[in-house]
Amino acid sequence: MRAEHGIHVGGEWRAARSGKAREIVDPADGSTLARVPEAGAEDADDAVAAARAAFDAGPWPHTPPAERAALLHRAAALLTAGRAELALLESHDTGKTLAEGGADVDCVADAFRYYADLVGAEDAGRVVDTGSATVHSVVVHEPVGVCALITPWNYPLLQASWKIAPALAAGNTFVIKPSEITPLSTVALVRLLTEAGLPAGVANIVTGPGDPVGARLAAHPGVDLVSFTGGLVSGVKVAELAAAGVKKVALELGGKNPNVVFADACATDEGFDTAVDQALNAAFIHSGQVCSAGGRLIVEESVRSRFVAELARRAALIRLGRGTADGVECGPMISAAQRERTADHVASALAEGAVLRTGGKVPPPSEVRPATGYFYEPTVLDRCHRGMRVVREEVFGPVLTVETFTDEDEAVALANDTEYGLAGAVWTADAGRARRVARRMRHGTVWINDFHPYLPQAEWGGFGKSGVGRELGPAGLAEYRETKHVYQNLAPRPVRWFAG
Ligand code: NAD
Repeated sequence: MRAEHGIHVGGEWRAARSGKAREIVDPADGSTLARVPEAGAEDADDAVAAARAAFDAGPWPHTPPAERAALLHRAAALLTAGRAELALLESHDTGKTLAEGGADVDCVADAFRYYADLVGAEDAGRVVDTGSATVHSVVVHEPVGVCALITPWNYPLLQASWKIAPALAAGNTFVIKPSEITPLSTVALVRLLTEAGLPAGVANIVTGPGDPVGARLAAHPGVDLVSFTGGLVSGVKVAELAAAGVKKVALELGGKNPNVVFADACATDEGFDTAVDQALNAAFIHSGQVCSAGGRLIVEESVRSRFVAELARRAALIRLGRGTADGVECGPMISAAQRERTADHVASALAEGAVLRTGGKVPPPSEVRPATGYFYEPTVLDRCHRGMRVVREEVFGPVLTVETFTDEDEAVALANDTEYGLAGAVWTADAGRARRVARRMRHGTVWINDFHPYLPQAEWGGFGKSGVGRELGPAGLAEYRETKHVYQNLAPRPVRWFAG
């Protein structure tokens, strides 16, 4: 067990003012991985004060973009150098496999490089053509100020990077509050940023629970922007707290993501195999604990039976175990509570008439699967319909529901019948249909004949209750900026609006 200093304020690592600490648990076996300080509202106040001072009086907001870009590049290089160690930490803390942890680190380094290049290549602002030789008018971008960044447990490092990289590129200072369940890699990231040369007070971290620490940050008068990734219920609370201070708010929330498969995508053996294979990835990677998990399969009725049979056969073969063990393809769930919630969803679906094709239970222990770990079998529920709770609510577990359609309009109507709107996919061999359906789907990301890839250059975010604002891409940088119009009169004269 390691002791971590999880609170970093004004350039110093320290314990919580209360002296309290929390044990961080490895979900693969329930053992204690580390102890981190359990911050309280008073630690959040200290961190905001440090970030405020670094913004108001420190060098970072005025550091030339090229220098900020150089620091982000140094951070990316340190991330790449520390890939194996960070992947191991992420695997132990979240349960994901080492391969997934390593891929996360690559994506994190990419985000830092992307924002370094974006901000490094920018010009000084947009000159407005006023048509007058005596007026110079320019629109410039400035950092928003102190940013409170609140992140979820499932992709700790990745979600932190989507906020930290653009926040720093834009010249802000920040306080990050990672999930109290999985803070370790975010602590490591802040350490790495200080190693890269970030001035004291620019990057602050407080490890502690959503309430009071996250809530305090969201409401704090010294905070200018709140960027939150997590569940809908917490996101609404954060938005309410931030509203009183008229802060900028960005919310990346949950999803209930449709994976729409037309029969023509399965017309060849290769097409069928690809669509089934990707449906497995969509639903079961990281045990389905992914905001964009394709947990809702919407398949054309004529291919349902064959598709579901193959899907269930392959789902039953997924090698479940400790994420760090050789040959394991899928790790545990994050907690006993999350596993119970998933089992409850499955039970309610069966009570409502769903047909279990595979899974639906805790697997037997094995050499790679300790009895004390929070494992749950990949589960396929056939004959589902949109009235079912399991189809309407985000499960956040390894559960795939199957619904069917008979024509394009019905497929689109089903795909859009959710209060969320984060991501979805359409599988078809018909290019015209692919584009039609993709345009009609009310989701922030739509994949055609693919599932899950995203690009740092392309915006990520949700329609509906999946959120407000965008991360990644140019819009992900714009979130962290204020826009200012500077109008310069080169020949000022009285205007004599008032005669006297
Ligand atoms: P969560 O809402 O329980 O917690 C998220 C963060 O909010 C944590 O740091 C938590 O401590 C904090 N928090 C909780 N209550 C708070 C409050 N009252 N005030 C301030 N902060 C508070 O979510 P989670 O279980 O960690 O993550 C899973 C959720 O995150 C899922 O719904 C998933 O879909 C979503 N998610 C979304 C995206 C996306 O890109 N849209 C990415 C990853 C995860």
